[in-house]
Amino acid sequence: MGFKKGALSDIFRRRRSLIKINDDTPISEQHLHPLSGAVLVLTKIDSKPRPVQGRYAVGWLGEGRQHLWYYKNFQTEADARQFFERHKKDGPPQNNYFKQDQQVNEVYGWEHHFRLKTMALTIPQMEFVTGKLAQIFNMEAPVVTFKPGKKKKTYAEADLQNNKIIMYRPQLALLLHEMAHLVNDQVNQDKWAWHGPGFVRTYLSILSLFPIIAPAEKLEALARESGLSIAKENNVRASRLLRKWRDHCNGDPHCDPTPT
Ligand SMILES: [Zn+2]
Repeated sequence: MGFKKGALSDIFRRRRSLIKINDDTPISEQHLHPLSGAVLVLTKIDSKPRPVQGRYAVGWLGEGRQHLWYYKNFQTEADARQFFERHKKDGPPQNNYFKQDQQVNEVYGWEHHFRLKTMALTIPQMEFVTGKLAQIFNMEAPVVTFKPGKKKKTYAEADLQNNKIIMYRPQLALLLHEMAHLVNDQVNQDKWAWHGPGFVRTYLSILSLFPIIAPAEKLEALARESGLSIAKENNVRASRLLRKWRDHCNGDPHCDPTPT
């Protein structure tokens, strides 16, 4: 969107958390960035002495954070608004601060209820599933390798750079989780937290294709109970693609990605 990669964070003059946002902070504009869960905020600073750089500030508030990071001051509200409008679509800088995987434990906690109970797949079945999903999301099918018993702690891994999934255990939900990472990266262009709101929505959309695991509504309700932040379906490209595909397919058995 008009910026070179990596340059976005330089646009914001200040990176350190100097402005605290609380219930009393006067916020004239805010915009939720769905994939990252961060909020772009336009606020007026009433502190004394008057901020030299200007009383109006526009900056990103990371999910669950209290301080504005990556913000810029303005002398007039009109300038602040212009900056706000220009930056809301881009999302926060894709750097370590906004990549922090804040809800990874909640994701694992939620999955604990179902992931190892799902069916064990053979390698051809894994390839069948990822191949079908790749068609839906209009991407290249990932390479899937299965290395049973290699690692104890990790069940599966996604290699975003090489479009690859490595499975250490054969369960379907583990494969879908890793596929959701590839889809979130390639289709949604979500370069923020690995298990952020965009990932969870994408994963839920993929899970909804496999009612043998659990009804989609039930999984989503369980995810909310686990405190997960989930992007809205309409705001996630992968979820929109999937819905379009489902409308198209409408019960055609060739469309079903469930392995037999
Ligand atoms: Zn993951």
